[in-house]
Parts: sequence; structure tokens; C-alpha cells
Amino acid sequence: MKKRLFTPGPTPVPENVMLSMAAPIIHHRNPEFMEILTRVHEDLQYLFRTTQPVVVMTCSGTGGMESAISSLFGTGDKVVTVNAGKFGERWGELVRTFTGGCVEVMVPWGEAIRPERLVEVLREHPDARGVCITHSETSTGTAADIQALCAAIHEASDALILVDGITAIGAHEFHFDEWGADICITGSQKGLMMPPGLALIAVSERAQDIIEGRGDHPQFYLSLKKALESHAGNDTPFTPAVTLIIGLAEALGMLRDEGIENVWKRHERLAAACRQGCEALGMKLFSSSPSFAVTPVWLPEGVDWKQFNKTLKADNGITVAAGQDEFAGRIFRISHLGYYDELDMLAVIGGLEFTLKSMGVPFEPGAGVAAVQRAFLSD
Ligand SMILES: *Cc1c(COP(=O)(O)O)cnc(C)c1O
Repeated sequence: MKKRLFTPGPTPVPENVMLSMAAPIIHHRNPEFMEILTRVHEDLQYLFRTTQPVVVMTCSGTGGMESAISSLFGTGDKVVTVNAGKFGERWGELVRTFTGGCVEVMVPWGEAIRPERLVEVLREHPDARGVCITHSETSTGTAADIQALCAAIHEASDALILVDGITAIGAHEFHFDEWGADICITGSQKGLMMPPGLALIAVSERAQDIIEGRGDHPQFYLSLKKALESHAGNDTPFTPAVTLIIGLAEALGMLRDEGIENVWKRHERLAAACRQGCEALGMKLFSSSPSFAVTPVWLPEGVDWKQFNKTLKADNGITVAAGQDEFAGRIFRISHLGYYDELDMLAVIGGLEFTLKSMGVPFEPGAGVAAVQRAFLSD
């Protein structure tokens, strides 16, 4: 039985990317590696749609979030965070840890924040130095309108805009420069089709100036100041994860060959087909503003999550993601972020049909798969 991973991080890694990482290790100060890192820096600018530096850090995505908060803000700084799920909540935890000045905006799970709501909060807090938002909230499979949010924030405030783009980069249209974001972060194990271990952080000119001007504060390994200084020479401040960066060069080359607009479009199509497949099996969708990276679905009435998940894995080789917090055991999430194509969507919906049938859930066999086919054949 073939194993198939449908989780929003780690995501599947293409064979050529894995093979590129199997070569003997090289030294990170050797010209061969410097050339690879230079190419990675350029391709990351292409991916984020920016002329500003995108630094590579050896840590997971959360390390990138911590790096941004601790590099830009300090004790007492007021920072607004939007909590519409697990990862928005994490922004709040980081701000509370590093500044103690968190203004947290709560949004119900499965919904996206409206720009007007954020503007109201910013008018109430004119001294806010930053706003932290999540482009694709992975825990709820919900996408926010980052372009509209950035425009509204700029209109209302001078606060820096920090975007958690961890499951959005590569799945959703995003223009770092044009939309006026100050920080955007992604992680290697999401849309970049890589194993976990790297955070990628884009930094605007405005954010660079602030980082430059800050005095001593307790920070070291995750310092964006150090990372930016090294980036200018296509270097890293510490030993980078050499092997992962070699793999990243290969993966970014694939995205560049496909073309970023095509990559976004592919995710949008796969997400739409996945939603239609689930609905055709009688399942209800969870999000009112669905992400193109991951589709959250309510478990059918009477289906036990543990048994469903066990059967899906053991009998069909398919791993999906569980619901989190209050939605644990009530929803599950199907990822289509990264290295996926049309036939993968047929496989996951087909696997769901096998599992649901074996659990006695009523539906017309083939209804889900037919809906996926129709979605692809009609667009
Ligand atoms: C995965 C994820 C993170 C956390 O990244 P780690 O690599 O697990 O540290 C943060 N935000 C979002 C939206 C994510 O999907």
C-alpha cells in the first residue's frame, strides 16, 4: 500500500528535491554553497514578490515568527494580534512574551477578520506599533483578504504589518511589496515542498530601518539584524542547514519553472475540487472563507474521529490532519498545499469514500470522485 500524506505541514517532498539532498555535504563557506544560497535568495524574492531581502533561518516557522517579534519590538510595545485560530493565537503568545503589550482581537474559528474591524481596533489604539495577521489560518482552513487588510491598516495607522504566510506562500496570491507588508514568514515544510527545518522571512525597508536603529536587547540566534547583515553578502550568521538549503534551491527552481501565477492557480483549483468532492459525499465544509492550502470538513454525524482516522491510515494509507482545540474530533483537514496535482485529489476523495463506506456512512459510491472529476473537467 502506498502512503499518502495530506497534512498542511509537513507536506510531500518531490523525489528530485530529496535526491538533491542526498549528495555529500559541502562546507557553507565554500563558493559552491555561496552560489546556491545566492540563487535561493533571488528565488525567494520571486516567490514573495519583493525586491527586499528574504532571509533564511535554521528553525521552524515559529522561530521565524519569534525572530520577527523579538527583532522589531521590546518591553512595553503595544502590538495588535488577530486570533482567528491556533496560529493567530501564537502571535499573541509571542507578543505577550516579548513586549507584554498585546491587544488581541478575537475572531470566531472558521471566519476571517474584516478590515473594518481591524481599523476600529487601530483607532482605539493609535499607539500600536505593529499588527500581526495570518494569511491562511491552518487550524481553521480559512484565508484572510491580506491585500484589503494591508490597505486598511496603512490607511488607519503607521503600525508595522506582520503576516504569517506560513501556509499561504505558494498557495495564495501574495505581493509583499505591492501590498505593503513589513514582514512575511513561511516555513520550508509547507508550500515549499521541503522537509521541516527552515524559516524564510521577508523584511521591508521600513522594518529594516527599525531593526537597524534598535539598541541592545536580549536576542541572539534569531536576530534579524544579524541575519540581514549576513544576507547582504549572501551569507548566514551561523552554520545554516546546508543540506536543506540545497534542497530548497531545487524546490524553488520547480516553483519558478511552473510560474508563480500557475502555482497559485493550481492551489485554487485543487482546493475547489476538494471542497466539491467532500460536499458530494454529504459532508459540510467548516470555513466561510476557505483557504487554498487546506480544506477543513465536519466529520459526518455519528462518525468517530479515532476510528475514521485509524481506518483511513491503516486501510487506505492516507494521513489527514485532525481538528484542534474545541474542534478536535469534530472536524478534519485535508491538505493540498505544495506538491499536489489533480490525481492526488481523486486519491484522497476516493480514500475517503472507502473509509466512510466501511463505517456505514450512506452516500452514492463514486459521488465524491465524480464531483472532483467534474470540477477539473469543467474549468
Ligand atoms: C505550521 C504553521 C506555523 C508554525 O510553523 P512551525 O514550522 O510548526 O513552527 C505557523 N503558522 C501557520 C499558519 C502554520 O501553518
